[in-house]
Amino acid sequence: MITDARTAMEEIETAAFELLEESLAGEYRRRLRKRLGEGESAERAVAEYVTERTQAEGVYEWAGHLFLLERLRNQGALNGAETQAVELRGLGAIERARARFREAHPPCGHCDTPLFERQAASCAICGGDLKAKVA
Ligand SMILES: [Zn+2]
Repeated sequence: MITDARTAMEEIETAAFELLEESLAGEYRRRLRKRLGEGESAERAVAEYVTERTQAEGVYEWAGHLFLLERLRNQGALNGAETQAVELRGLGAIERARARFREAHPPCGHCDTPLFERQAASCAICGGDLKAKVA
């Protein structure tokens, strides 16, 4: 049981990682629908790209806030002095989640889209052959 979602660093990192995967799965579903159109085989292909949430809902809400904060900071649209300590610690968790995400989903050597499965034989987005690639 989490008493304060803002200070549960491991949970925030996991939730942020899952949000990144969720977003990637959504991108795969959109792009596959576009390419394959309607029909059973398209639905089957799309159904493979689903993710699960393992944390309490409040942790995702907080992680979402941190992603927004990160974006604003990167745009230089935030005065650093106004960022709270608990937010700075949270931003560290977001950074670790991004590193984990990059490790789990390296980019396709052909189209640069993060691979949904690290060991995929071919890219589901561009169809590029990944077997020859040196890991
Ligand atoms: Zn590709």
